Amino acid sequence: MTEKTERVYNFSAGPAVLPVPVLEEAQRHLLALPGVGMSVLEISHRSKTFEEIIRRAEQGVRELLGLPDHYHVLFLQGGASLQFSMVPMNLLPKDGSADYILTGSWGKKAIKEAKREGRVQIAATTEDSNFDRIPEPHEIKLDPNAAYVHITTNETIQGVQWPKEPDTGGIPIVADASSDIMSRPIDIEKYGLIYAGAQKNIGPAGVTLVIIRDDLLSRIPDGLHTMLDYRTHVENRSLYNTPNTFGIYIISLVCQWLKEKGGLEAMARENEAKAKMIYDVIDSSGFYRGHAQPGSRSMMNVTFRLPTEELEKRFVQEATAQGLDGLKGHRSVGGIRASIYNAFPREGVEALVQFMREFERKNG
Ligand SMILES: *Cc1c(COP(=O)(O)O)cnc(C)c1O
Repeated sequence: MTEKTERVYNFSAGPAVLPVPVLEEAQRHLLALPGVGMSVLEISHRSKTFEEIIRRAEQGVRELLGLPDHYHVLFLQGGASLQFSMVPMNLLPKDGSADYILTGSWGKKAIKEAKREGRVQIAATTEDSNFDRIPEPHEIKLDPNAAYVHITTNETIQGVQWPKEPDTGGIPIVADASSDIMSRPIDIEKYGLIYAGAQKNIGPAGVTLVIIRDDLLSRIPDGLHTMLDYRTHVENRSLYNTPNTFGIYIISLVCQWLKEKGGLEAMARENEAKAKMIYDVIDSSGFYRGHAQPGSRSMMNVTFRLPTEELEKRFVQEATAQGLDGLKGHRSVGGIRASIYNAFPREGVEALVQFMREFERKNG
């Protein structure tokens, strides 16, 4: 029996595909971790074994992203969505202001929560063109006194991604990197804080990676609820309360897998090559229309439309029947979305590309 061949190609936006070797290792050790006699699901988060697991997960994140010592690595709960609130609660002073660059649906949700905490300036937005691009540098009006500049590195729903970090003149970037964390190297010194729900690129649902620069901790006001104060989690190394032990374990395995794959530079090359295959079909066809403009296109979520909604429906139905799962686009954009995160295999992209050509030939 080979489970692998029964797996479909999972294009889901999240929770999403995980590396097969990671799933196999987790499966092998699910009854008992070697030398422990219990599964990771059953051990205490205060045990030596778990301490070693969380240490490996943190070390993996540090090595892959090249984090200097003045950045803390936290594994929290509440998803990226709780970070929409925690970020301004901790970092937006009552008498200050924060800049948000709005490039899609997730950024909108982040702004909604930040506004409850203080003054928010939209430094740029591409909403008038239905979030089909990243703003040009000259369109971004930054406040030199902003506490931080918030960006969504990859807008998962619209499929637009910052090609690189904006120049903020030294103001720390706070980034929602939920859907492209560890998909490519980053210029870490530009960031004050990075947060990412694990379930797209680095693990299962229920654990959120937060990376925070040490000096930002001194800005946090006193009086926050204990669980909502980043200092609690820094001081307790993410073990103030019971964390998502299984999620952290899977992250440690994913980091190991990423290192074996050659790290983030190798991953970036692979991700670009995968995405290019699909964008090439879009660009060479009058049948498929990409949502994102070239230059802002996501390497993680490829969004496109077909000539009619009827055809889009049939596309999804026929693709699903052929083992290409999860291609239906988000209702706010419509059409098709192919999410091709780190763990998504190249063969799956090849299968999609072949299916797209065939579908166009029959229906174009
Ligand atoms: C999925 C996603 C979120 C929401 O994450 P949760 O962990 O479900 O709260 C936020 N931002 C981006 C960019 C996402 O892709």
